[in-house]
Amino acid sequence: MTALILIGSGLNALLGLALLMLWRQAPQHLYVRYWGWSWILLSGALSLGLGLLPDQDGSVFHKLMVGSAAAFAMGSMALRTAGARIYRQLPWERRVWLPLYLAMMGSLMWLAELDHRYAVLAASIYLAIGAWQCAWWIGRGGDSGERFVALCFVAAGFVHGLTPAFDPLGRSAVPHVAGLFVQTTLSLGLILLSVKRAHGQARQQAQRFSLLAQNSLQGLAVVQQRHLVYANPAALKIYGFASLEEATRPGVFEQLLPPEQQEEVLARNRLVLADPRARVEWQATRLTRDGRQIHVHGLSSHTDWDGQPAELMVMIDDSSRQSALDALRRQALHDELTDLPNRNFAVERLHQLTYTGAAPFAILSADLDRFQLVNESLGHEVGDALLQAVAQRLCQELPVNATLARLGEDQFLVLLEGVAERAEVQAAVEAMLALLHTPFLVQGAELFVHMSVGVAQFPRDGRDANSLLRAGDAAMRRAKARAGISYVFFESSMKSDSRSRLEVEQAIGHAIVQRQFVLEYQPKFLAHSRQLCGFEALVRWERPGQGRVSPADFVPAAERTGQIHALGALILDMVMAQMRSWLDRHGRFLPVAVNVSPVQFEDGGFATGLLGELKARALPPELMEIEITETAAIAHLDQVMPQLSLLRGAGVLCALDDFGTGQSSLTMLRQLPISTMKLDRSMIAPLPESNARAVVQVTCALGQALKLDIVAEGVETEVQAQAAESLGCTQLQGYYLGRPLPVAKAQALLDDWAASLAPVPSESGRT
Ligand code: C2E
Ligand code: MG
Ligand code: MG
Repeated sequence: MTALILIGSGLNALLGLALLMLWRQAPQHLYVRYWGWSWILLSGALSLGLGLLPDQDGSVFHKLMVGSAAAFAMGSMALRTAGARIYRQLPWERRVWLPLYLAMMGSLMWLAELDHRYAVLAASIYLAIGAWQCAWWIGRGGDSGERFVALCFVAAGFVHGLTPAFDPLGRSAVPHVAGLFVQTTLSLGLILLSVKRAHGQARQQAQRFSLLAQNSLQGLAVVQQRHLVYANPAALKIYGFASLEEATRPGVFEQLLPPEQQEEVLARNRLVLADPRARVEWQATRLTRDGRQIHVHGLSSHTDWDGQPAELMVMIDDSSRQSALDALRRQALHDELTDLPNRNFAVERLHQLTYTGAAPFAILSADLDRFQLVNESLGHEVGDALLQAVAQRLCQELPVNATLARLGEDQFLVLLEGVAERAEVQAAVEAMLALLHTPFLVQGAELFVHMSVGVAQFPRDGRDANSLLRAGDAAMRRAKARAGISYVFFESSMKSDSRSRLEVEQAIGHAIVQRQFVLEYQPKFLAHSRQLCGFEALVRWERPGQGRVSPADFVPAAERTGQIHALGALILDMVMAQMRSWLDRHGRFLPVAVNVSPVQFEDGGFATGLLGELKARALPPELMEIEITETAAIAHLDQVMPQLSLLRGAGVLCALDDFGTGQSSLTMLRQLPISTMKLDRSMIAPLPESNARAVVQVTCALGQALKLDIVAEGVETEVQAQAAESLGCTQLQGYYLGRPLPVAKAQALLDDWAASLAPVPSESGRT
């Protein structure tokens, strides 16, 4: 009998262990664990209470064995019912089961003290009720498997309950054999039930995952050993595959990676496989099956695939957003006309290159000379085409370390990276300028282009993008201002140039309001007779605390800031007031020339305004002469021409100033409604040198043909005066014959002139 009980308890222990092992496979199924321990406790109860229990001798050891057996049996029953309730997702609360358990244990111990048989009877009843309770919970509403297990519980309840009927101390072989059979069947049933539920749940989860993966708009792919093992429909669509089989063919995965990205992808794969918690977000270019480039945004993490580590990638095709971003970025950093990087790009690049300790480099700020002239005389289309042609040639021919950008209008920037020595920079600039020696063929016209280039070097001339650009610009302006010089290296003295330029710009407005300007009058004389024949009014700025400032220093500043309109109006007002006063003084008068900036012609009402003023002051228009420089006249032809015609038509004299410094063509000269041309000092200074004579002679012939007065400017010697006279100049102006004079001295000269003439007839009404 003892052997039978021990075999039964051993079997129960094994079944309990089997349940516990099953639970280890799926720890979320807690009820399996409870049942496992329940079977082990039952095995303990059988061994201690029946198999190994010595005959009743009232000893402490005997009592201890009986107590332990009872605790094990009741514990087994409690765990079994706990498992059943958890299986059915019913609550199992300690505040209910613990008092119940203690009450049962207490009653058993008390009964065992009275009579051992009573205790056996009570235990059998408790166990039977527990088993039937389990049968109720599991069987009710259950499937066939659950109903079978419930039946086993019912049977087990009967076996427990009937045990004392065979033997009051529960030692009969009949219930034990039946119990062995029932318990084994029950535990197998529970094992099957647990496996079935675990499988059901796993299947459900797999179905859910597969449903999610199949319907996800995000691509999902699994890569194992550089081989694609899974891809959902969205991923297949992103890469242009028709089926999973096609995508998972060996070698296909690598074809989707641009060669330069292979290394990065491998490194990420290694990282993700090594670290189960790694999550790496990435954005990269990929190739579709037909070789199209796409932009993919993805997240890589670790997963298990068929028991092996693999990389799970979640991704979206971000191409449209990326291309929109690229387009925006391109627009922001790119010049539409020339297809070159623009100012923003240049500044950004300079920011990147100008950190402390960065390698030296140079920038060339290059501006086309007289580009405005092309625009105005040949039209903006030709201007645009010329800019494109220049950009294209420079782009093709510049060395690889040079980056070309268009800063705006006709200004370019060349970034020479890795060029540190002045000689190297100089060689590069000269090579670039040499590229312009061949003319550009633009819309049928052959155009020569000249550039003025300012060179600034990092870190010598500026330590950040803005100061470098400023230095390049300052040097470029210096190059522009120097005739015959194409490039200038920045020098620190230019910094103060720009500072004083700014200062002047700020001060002019104030000076206009305060009328801090005075006029000097430089006399002009007729050739040969050397008789006074007119004046040129030249403005000076009496700058408080700084003395007299030359117009060459502040007129350009006034032009840049637009203050030339107010300044020009002030000058005309002063000149006309002076003319009125001289006319009143002598009753007759000579023409006075006033220099007018081309910017003043931007005001479409300039000419009518001037004529109105003359009329208001009753000044004859032919006493007023307008001087406009040759270069300015040509560069602003559209604005200048109609207004000049209007003035000329009304009788105002018009002179083309500084003739010989610009590039006016014969036809243009014929078109301009001028009455006078003034030969620039640079043409007169070398006289009587033979080449200079030839040039002046030809120019005079031209002027004569156009019936113009020809003024020789800057006559400083008698020799020059005579040469100019003999070559055909009709008037002379220069320090030799008369410097610019303050009003009082000019008036004295005028008095002499008036005195030398016959008295004015009295009917003129002015003396
Ligand atoms: P510009 O109209 O060609 O004026 C002639 C310049 O040559 C004057 O310089 C005059 O003082 C200088 N000059 C005259 N004779 C000689 C000579 O024999 N030798 C030398 N070395 N120089 C001589 P300034 O007064 O400094 O004027 C410079 C320029 O400033 C003028 O050149 C003119 O373009 C501009 N300017 C002068 N006054 C005005 C004005 O009222 N309005 C505008 N918009 N510009 C003016
Ligand atoms: Mg002048
Ligand atoms: Mg001049």
